[in-house]
Amino acid sequence: MKLKVLTIFPDFVKSFFDTSLIKRAIEREIIKSEVIDIRDFAFDKHRVVDDRPFGGGEGMVLKPEPVSRALESVMEEHSVVVYLTPRGEVFNSDMAKELANFKDLIFICGRYEGMDERVVEKYVDREISIGDFILNGGEVAAMAVIESTVRFLPGVVGKEDSVKNESFEHFLLEPPVYTRPAVFMGMEVPAVLRSGNHKEIEKWKLERSISDTMKRRPDLFEKYLKFLEGEEKK
Ligand code: SAM
Repeated sequence: MKLKVLTIFPDFVKSFFDTSLIKRAIEREIIKSEVIDIRDFAFDKHRVVDDRPFGGGEGMVLKPEPVSRALESVMEEHSVVVYLTPRGEVFNSDMAKELANFKDLIFICGRYEGMDERVVEKYVDREISIGDFILNGGEVAAMAVIESTVRFLPGVVGKEDSVKNESFEHFLLEPPVYTRPAVFMGMEVPAVLRSGNHKEIEKWKLERSISDTMKRRPDLFEKYLKFLEGEEKK
């Protein structure tokens, strides 16, 4: 999978591609990354990429020409262009799985008050928001989308099982996790997890998953109930 990111802060995004599991996925040639500095496509010697908004209002707007030129320099026949914006569809695990099917994803990171809408109309396939809050720019949002998408590519996460069982799969949150020592500041790891009784451990995990989802995410729990059938539902 090719991942290309258009940004005015290339070093910020490059450091992301140079870290942890993403770095390893690049070394293993599962993904290829390219970070494009939008300023390289500005017309003037000051590399200006913003201008005042038509109709007035606060702040500046990312100009259309540098972004369009930057995009055209990396677009291929099957590229899917994603614009990170609070106006987009709210991202979730299903969308990450869907994006994982594409071979060439291009992410445009907005800045200032956003990007000229004509670029969106002309080139953008998906507008994605990572939640109902405002970031300074699309970089952090692009990294979140890329990281969770790449986890669905075979070979990226150590054991593929650890992706299959994670929170949001089957609409349940994962149960809490513990490691050594068995007693920390007077708090004990639940005895069942140390019992070696796999059947009881699985039962405890499922019960905690269900009760935590009920308490913390009633919206997910509703979906979980619809997904259940027969004996399991009872
Ligand atoms: N004025 C815009 C608004 O209220 O919708 C917010 C602009 S924000 C300061 C600058 C850029 O950050 C946006 O163009 C977008 O690319 C990115 N951004 C901010 N919040 C985001 C979010 N929740 N999801 C995705 N991108 C976001």
